[in-house]
Parts: sequence; C-alpha cells; structure tokens
Amino acid sequence: METSRRNFLKASGAFLLGLTIWPAVKSFAGNNTDEIARSEAPAGKKWGLVIDMQKCWPQYQEGCRKCFLACQRAHNIPDIANKEEEIKWIWTEPFENAFPEQEHEYVAASIKGKPFIVLCNHCENPPCVRVCPTKATFKRRDGIVMMDYHRCIGCRYCMAACPYGARSFNFSDPRPFIKEINPAYPTREKGVVEKCNFCVERIDTGLPPACVDACPAGALIFGDLDDPNSEARKILAARYTIQRKPELGTHPSVYYLV
Ligand code: SF4
Repeated sequence: METSRRNFLKASGAFLLGLTIWPAVKSFAGNNTDEIARSEAPAGKKWGLVIDMQKCWPQYQEGCRKCFLACQRAHNIPDIANKEEEIKWIWTEPFENAFPEQEHEYVAASIKGKPFIVLCNHCENPPCVRVCPTKATFKRRDGIVMMDYHRCIGCRYCMAACPYGARSFNFSDPRPFIKEINPAYPTREKGVVEKCNFCVERIDTGLPPACVDACPAGALIFGDLDDPNSEARKILAARYTIQRKPELGTHPSVYYLV
C-alpha cells in the first residue's frame, strides 16, 4: 500500500513536472544558450563524439562493457540495482528507444532491436540548461554541458526537460553503492542530479574521455567538431550519420554510424 502510494506520487509528480516544463522547453527550442555559457573552457573548440555501432556490436555481444566500467570507475558512479533509482551516465537502449523517429515496420534486420550506446548528447541547444533555476547546469564555451553539484537543489526540472533521459537523480546517498572510490573525482549526495560530463576532467588535461580510451574496438571517436582535420570531423564528412531526435532542435553533439 505504502509502496504503491509512493509510486503514484512519483509518477504524478513527474507528470505534473512534465506539464510545467514541456511548454518552457518548446519555447526555448531554437534559442541560443551561449549567453549563459561559462567561460572556463578554451574558446575555439566544440567537442563531439561519433559512435560506430558496427565496430561496437561484435565486442558487445562477447560481453564487453569496458566503456561503461571505465566511466563508472572514473566518476564514482554508484551501482544501484533498483532500476527506479539507478544512476546512468552511459548505457544502451534498443534501436527503437534510441531512435523512435527512425522506427518503421521495414527497418533493417541488421539494426532492429540492436543495442545502441547512449549518453548525454551535450546538446548545442540544451533545454536542461534553460530550465535550471540555479544555473547548476550550464554549457561551457566548448559545448560541454556541465553540472555544478553544489548548486543543484534537486528540483529535477532538468530531468523533465531532457528529451533523452540522460540525467539521473540520487534518491539516496550514493556513496555506500560505490565499489571503490576514486579520490580524483567528487562523490555526490542525496538529492543531486548527475549525468555524463564528456570526461571534462580528462579532456582539460589533454586526455580522451575514459570510455573512448577503454574501447578495444575503436568504436568511440571523440574530437573537436570545429577542427576539419579532427578524426571525428573527417568521419562526419565521409559517412552518413544519424543523431537522436533531431526534430526537437536540441542539436546533439553525439553522432551515430549505423
Ligand atoms: Fe541536457 Fe539532455 Fe541534451 Fe544532455 S542530452 S545536454 S542532459 S538536454
């Protein structure tokens, strides 16, 4: 009884939050959020990620989860079994969930139902940034959408605004669920939202994101989209790629080779 009441309150709360936030998200679509970008990132870069699923799938089918584990270790992501409370920075969704606008009854068997790696898209026009009342989430000049955990008040407007489900909320203290704490990265507290940060702590020192480094197949290609000579840009110029929910005008910085 108590559990179903809590579930109902959670669901109705999320619904009401959605009703409140969605008009705001729609009204922001198309606006430029650069004016609220903070200045600590170097100008002249625009980070992006290309994901080659054809390279990923053979490894994934063999049980490879190296990118997920590297991310989990680098960022002290708790391992919470309860699906309603799990914390996700990078994970997989079946094709139909990741690309609902591409779904039709004749979709190629080679991609139907296949798992696709998903994460925060570091949108060029991020609705999560627009709705945050404390500017706890913000976009850097290099395009990375960041979280300031200390400013987050746990209102979860950003979660309602993100059309990709890329954000997680700490319903409880995450620290007891972290296998081995990495002292180089902060742990979070109960009541705080978190998500992928494109490994900003690594790229600011010249290292690639941990997931990119860990992938044995070279399926994750990270680079400066403003640099025509970057590997990511060369791939985008040479091959057809798709993005998640392009019709929403968020302009994701994550591209997929299928
Ligand atoms: Fe924000 Fe979601 Fe876009 Fe990430 S994917 S920048 S959380 S709207």
